[in-house]
Amino acid sequence: MLRTIIAIAAAKIIINISRRFGNQGTVLAGRVARWLDPGILKKLAARVTGEVIIITGTNGKTTTSNMIAQILGANGNSVVHNQAGANMLNGITTAFIAASSLKASRHWDYALLETDEANVAPLLNEVNAGQLLITNFFRDQLDRYGELDRTIRLISEGVRGRDIRLWLNADDPLMSALPRDTGLPCSYYGFAATAYDHEAQQDSREGRYCMLCGEEIEYRRFHFAQLGAYRCPHCGNSNPAPDYLGSDLQLGHEIVMKVNDIEVNSPYQGFYNAYNILAAVAITKGMGIADAVIKEAIARFQPQAGRMERFTVGIKEATLILVKNPTGFDQSLQALLNDRRPKNLFLALNDNAADGRDISWIWDAELEPLSSAEAELCMLVCSGLRSGDMAVRLKYAGVATDLIQIESDLDSGIQKALGGPGKVSYILSTYTALFKCRKILLRLQGDPAPSAIPGERIYGKS
Ligand SMILES: [Zn+2]
Repeated sequence: MLRTIIAIAAAKIIINISRRFGNQGTVLAGRVARWLDPGILKKLAARVTGEVIIITGTNGKTTTSNMIAQILGANGNSVVHNQAGANMLNGITTAFIAASSLKASRHWDYALLETDEANVAPLLNEVNAGQLLITNFFRDQLDRYGELDRTIRLISEGVRGRDIRLWLNADDPLMSALPRDTGLPCSYYGFAATAYDHEAQQDSREGRYCMLCGEEIEYRRFHFAQLGAYRCPHCGNSNPAPDYLGSDLQLGHEIVMKVNDIEVNSPYQGFYNAYNILAAVAITKGMGIADAVIKEAIARFQPQAGRMERFTVGIKEATLILVKNPTGFDQSLQALLNDRRPKNLFLALNDNAADGRDISWIWDAELEPLSSAEAELCMLVCSGLRSGDMAVRLKYAGVATDLIQIESDLDSGIQKALGGPGKVSYILSTYTALFKCRKILLRLQGDPAPSAIPGERIYGKS
């Protein structure tokens, strides 16, 4: 017991000091606490009286878990929730300690833990989770195809034999072996046909082959990437019927859709965010939370830093978007193409460690739609450490060269983009330039220095 108190006290001191210096000290505090008391996470997690929920997947886990946290909070529940960028064991330990009393006497209704796929198994060794929600499986920047199979297998092996319910994306064929391989109860969320579906694959796509028999699968339609209505002609593996069905989807300046019989509205944009909303609504409905509470919480939930975050500079609107892998890039572009107003685009590409040193992933992203007239693109500023490479990629995507400008300095680049002829501006950035872009936008908007970052702290590593 004394050891636990000492560990918590030491970690709380570190959290306080690092907060004073403007960062969240998330990883270090947890590391020190785990060194002083290796059983600390297990002990604190055991104080969750309701359920521990784990959220994993390639894209969307931060937004999805923040939405679930918002719904649980609106329902009057106490929740321990780790922040993005602090989603390994140390960061999760810090989240519990930050919410704990010194004597570890506090209880919580729920813990909502966002974590990388590879961390699911180690995390389950320390926390007794009742539910695991998987958003999707996409290839991250540098992963190769075999890596993704390995990731899925790690999750399968990590959950097998445990008393846990899986929440799976019914539209993702890469998840289709999980029920068989784990033998666990599964709930599914997925979309009915939407007005945004297409028949041919456009995006960088995974999941060409059946997870059950290895044959090539066929699609009736794609929502995006490999998500869609599929069937394996060899073994019959096809979409499971969703328990929570998203329908009547309308994408524009906001998202309007139905989940079973509830209609939800959200200030977010883009199909990928519609999936995040669907997943959050599904699991909270499954937990028995009232429709009215869910609806209200989703409507009030504002995008966080770099997740379609809106700024107003002068009379013009600017939207900041984090881009970190080909599918995320495709989806951000799709969201801005759904916005039919004439637009200026700013793209900051860095190649620091946290961005991924190898920038070849921009060639896997589908940038060709930017060259079409419907894109209403007025100007495109390439910026960041690898602005030249971005410009070359866009040129090959067929974007008219007279629209492309290179300005490696972020500040002048953003100002140039905002001053362009478009009615709105979209500021896309890789990880390590995101915070700088956000600071510039806040300054131009006339806000004081960003002391509090809403919703999440994703800059811990940069
Ligand atoms: Zn098959």
